Amino acid sequence: MKIEDFLQDRKTPPSGAGGLGIGLYIHIPFCKQACHYCDFHFSTSLKKKDQLVEALCAEIILRKNEIPGVLQTIYFGGGTPSLLDADELERIFKTIDAHFAITENPEITLEANPDDLTEEKLKMLAQSRINRLSIGVQSFFEADLKLMNRAHNADEAVRCLELAKAYFDNISIDLIYGMPDMINARWKENLNKALQLDIPHISSYALTVEPNTALQKFIEKGVVKPVDDAVAQAHFEILVDTMQQAGFENYEFSNFGKPGYFSRNNTAYWTGKAYLGIGPSAHSYDGNTRSWNINNNPKYIKAIEAGELPVERETLSLTDKYNEYVMTGLRTIWGISLSKIEESFGLKFKEYALQQAEKHLEEHLLSRDGDRIVVTKKGKFLSDGLASDLFLLNLS
Ligand code: SF4
Repeated sequence: MKIEDFLQDRKTPPSGAGGLGIGLYIHIPFCKQACHYCDFHFSTSLKKKDQLVEALCAEIILRKNEIPGVLQTIYFGGGTPSLLDADELERIFKTIDAHFAITENPEITLEANPDDLTEEKLKMLAQSRINRLSIGVQSFFEADLKLMNRAHNADEAVRCLELAKAYFDNISIDLIYGMPDMINARWKENLNKALQLDIPHISSYALTVEPNTALQKFIEKGVVKPVDDAVAQAHFEILVDTMQQAGFENYEFSNFGKPGYFSRNNTAYWTGKAYLGIGPSAHSYDGNTRSWNINNNPKYIKAIEAGELPVERETLSLTDKYNEYVMTGLRTIWGISLSKIEESFGLKFKEYALQQAEKHLEEHLLSRDGDRIVVTKKGKFLSDGLASDLFLLNLS
């Protein structure tokens, strides 16, 4: 099934998002500076970049047989993958080519920050195998970018998108809402700016205050106002309405795409496809087991150089898998399938899901369409809570 066909059948989750194939995620753990809200794994020292690229290539080789399948998607995430130069990208691609089969038309995404996307960089990326950019714009307003400590300014955000469109058709941008002092009109203007620039895919997240971040400390000291859930909900409603009016499908809670531009990589995650994650802090899933690499660059490099995988694993129980299916499914337009629950987990899981869903179906927070249960527009902002009501704790 092609991604374009998703919209023709909203009842069927996209088997083509991974098909029988798998995804490859490569974590590039470097950033120019630390954004105040960020708790991802990265280092602001680029000294070990070359050594780390070597280690990534070595890990690709060490794990080439771990999850069998043809690569459907490759995703360079971070950190800041746009810090890679042409030679580093080429070394990684050469290693992938030598050890994996790749589908004919893979989706190959690179996360990029606006300040890295000069014309020269875009030319280099367009000449490489990258065919999708995911750009960390976050906001088109100077005040927001300063509060977040982003490395780019508002002019760079616009300029890089105008330039990027000359080299790439498949572009996604990230935007953050729910910031203290961000009035509704400013949030709406952010969305309008993205629409004026004709960007076909937007991922949009509420600002969250993660432990041990600079943002948390500023809020504790009273330097920054606390984040308000009511503001985040108001912004989310503006987001959903604005994007739907502009012809975007809200195919996952935080993701909006025009037909033909849904992220194949992310859709594969949400529909339970297997993926291999390479690099410090990267996670992998083979259908039964989750694993994650150490989130420390020097320790990662040292282990890989010694031929060891710095990885921890956990095997998922049937209940874990059911809970994950419910959690990710209810965040998507495809919802959850009762027949799939029965087939994959057993009749008692299906009966439990139906029983738990009943109250929310009556309140029109969930709706049932034959075999599928989906979250309604009214229930959207509550979808994680609705999913947790369907979770099982100990039935396996
Ligand atoms: S650029 Fe991205 S990964 Fe790096 S600090 Fe900022 S939000 Fe985190």
